[in-house]
Amino acid sequence: MKSGSEYAEGLRGARVVHIVGEGRVDDITTDPKTAATTRSYAEWYDRRSAPESPTDVLFTPASVDSARTPVELTIPRTANDLRALGVAFEETMLASAGNLTHDPAYGNLIAIGNLDAATRMNLSAEHVQAAAAYRDLIEKEGRFVTLAFGGAPVGYRFNATAEERQALHVVEERAEGVVLTGRIAMHSASPFADDVYIGIGSGVTLGDHRAAFAVAVDSPGVRLMARKISARHENPFLAPLSSRFDELDAQMWLENVVVPWDRVFPTASAASPAAARPDQVTWAWTNWHQLYCWYAKGEFSLGLALALSDIMGQKGNPKTREHLTDMMVELEAVRSALVASELDPDWSSPTGIPSPNLRHLAAGSLRMMQNQRKLNEILRIIPGSSMVTAPSDAELADPVLAAGLEQSFGGGGYTALQRSAVLHLAWDHVSSALDARESAFELHANGGAGLWRTKTEAIFPDRDRLVSRVLSVLDVEMPAAAERVTV
Ligand SMILES: Cc1cc2nc3c(=O)[nH]c(=O)nc-3n(C[C@H](O)[C@H](O)[C@H](O)COP(=O)(O)OP(=O)(O)OC[C@H]3O[C@@H](n4cnc5c(N)ncnc54)[C@H](O)[C@@H]3O)c2cc1C
Repeated sequence: MKSGSEYAEGLRGARVVHIVGEGRVDDITTDPKTAATTRSYAEWYDRRSAPESPTDVLFTPASVDSARTPVELTIPRTANDLRALGVAFEETMLASAGNLTHDPAYGNLIAIGNLDAATRMNLSAEHVQAAAAYRDLIEKEGRFVTLAFGGAPVGYRFNATAEERQALHVVEERAEGVVLTGRIAMHSASPFADDVYIGIGSGVTLGDHRAAFAVAVDSPGVRLMARKISARHENPFLAPLSSRFDELDAQMWLENVVVPWDRVFPTASAASPAAARPDQVTWAWTNWHQLYCWYAKGEFSLGLALALSDIMGQKGNPKTREHLTDMMVELEAVRSALVASELDPDWSSPTGIPSPNLRHLAAGSLRMMQNQRKLNEILRIIPGSSMVTAPSDAELADPVLAAGLEQSFGGGGYTALQRSAVLHLAWDHVSSALDARESAFELHANGGAGLWRTKTEAIFPDRDRLVSRVLSVLDVEMPAAAERVTV
C-alpha cells in the first residue's frame, strides 16, 4: 500500500479544486487551508505501514500463511471478521474525534457493496470481475474512494423536463470508455480522495441498466466545487481539531469526462431501478461506518468530559457525576447496537460475505441522532464560562499578562497553559464551525432520522408475530394476520 508521502504526491498536479470563498487551490498539500488535513490523511497511510505491536487492532492477526495487513481494507468472511473491522474503525475515528468520516476504509465498504450489487443482479462474469478487481485495488494500493449518491444540485430540480433534471448525461460511448457531462451534488472528502463512486442517482442508463461510475478526481474535465472552510482561528492552539480535520464536502462538475469501461458498473435494472439498487446494498456498509464516526464523536465527548471534570476540580460533584454516567449509558447503548450488527450479521448476500445487520444499525443510528445534542450540552455545562474565556498560548507567554493569567487559569495540578489547551479542545469539539458541519452531516448525509424511522419500520421482523401473541392473551377469537386490514 502507498505511503503517506506517496499519497500526498498523488494529490498534486491535475486535480482542479475550487474552495468557496478562497478560489482555486493549486496544491492542497501546501495551501494553508488544506495542508494540515492532507497531513492527517497521510498519517492514515503511514500508520498502516506496519503494526505497532503484536496486538495492533488495525492489522489482521498474525498467521502462518499470511502477512499482517490493514484489517480495514480486507473483506470480512465471518461475524468475528466484521467485529475486527468495527474495532479498527473505532480506533481510527477516535483519533480525529469522528471528524474524518471518509477514508480508504470507507472506500473498501463502498466497493464491497458494489460487488455485492453486481452479484445480486446476476450480471455477466465480466462485470462481476470488474467490481471485484476494483475492490481488490483498494486493498492493494489503498485507493481512496468516496461516495456520492449521484443526485443533481438544487438548481437542476427547477428544469422543465425529467431529462434536464438528471445530474449526468452521456455525451458519447467510445472504445476507451463513456464520456459524461453534468454536475453531482454535495458529497464528502472528494478534494482529498482518488475517486468518487457516483451511484445510480445520476440517472444515467447504459443498455438495460442504470449505471454507477468510479470517476478519478484528477480526470481531465473534473472540477470540484468545495464548501467554505470551517471558520477557525489560524492559531492551532485555539483550534486543535478544526485546524487538522476539516475533510471538506464538494460538488463534482464534469465536462466531457472519460470514464474507462472497467470503472463503469451497470447495477440497477433500468426497467425497475428500485430492485437490487447498489445504494441499497451499500447502505448497510456505509452507514455502519458512519455510525462509527458519530459514536467516535460521542466517545471523544465522554473522554473530554471526564478530563474536564478533572481540570475543573468537579470530579466529586454529584451533578457532574450524574452527567458523566448519562453519557456512558447513552454511548453504551449505541456501542451495543454496533456490536450486535457485527455479531448478528446479515447473511443474505450471494457473495457469502456477511454484512452488518441493518436492524441493529437503525436502532443505533436513531439513538445516536437523538442523544448527540445531549452529549454536546453536557460538554458545554461541565467547563462553564472558562471554556469561553480561556487564553491563547501567545497571551500566556506575554510578560505583561502571564502572571495574571496563571492566577486566573492555573492551579489544582494544572498550569494555565495546560488547562487552557483542554478548554480550547472542548470549544473546538462542540462549539465550532467544524462541529456545526458534523451536525449537518449527521442530520443529512444518510437520510436523517425520518428515513431511519421508515427503514426501522420496514425491516422490523416481528410485527405480526407480536400482534398475534398479544391478541392471543385474550379469550376472544381474533382475525389472523392476513385478515387484518390496513387502510
Ligand atoms: C455535511 C454533509 C455531508 C454529506 N456527505 C455526503 C456524501 O458523502 N455523499 C452523498 O451522497 N451525500 C452526502 N451529503 C448529501 C446528503 O445526502 C443530502 O444532503 C441529502 O441527500 C439530502 O439532500 P439535500 O441536501 O439536497 O436536501 P433537499 O432535497 O434539498 O431537502 C431539503 C430539506 O427538505 C426536506 N425534504 C425534501 N423533500 C422532501 C419531501 N418530499 N418531504 C419531506 N421533506 C422533504 C429534506 O429532508 C431536507 O431536510 C452530505 C450532506 C451534508 C450536509
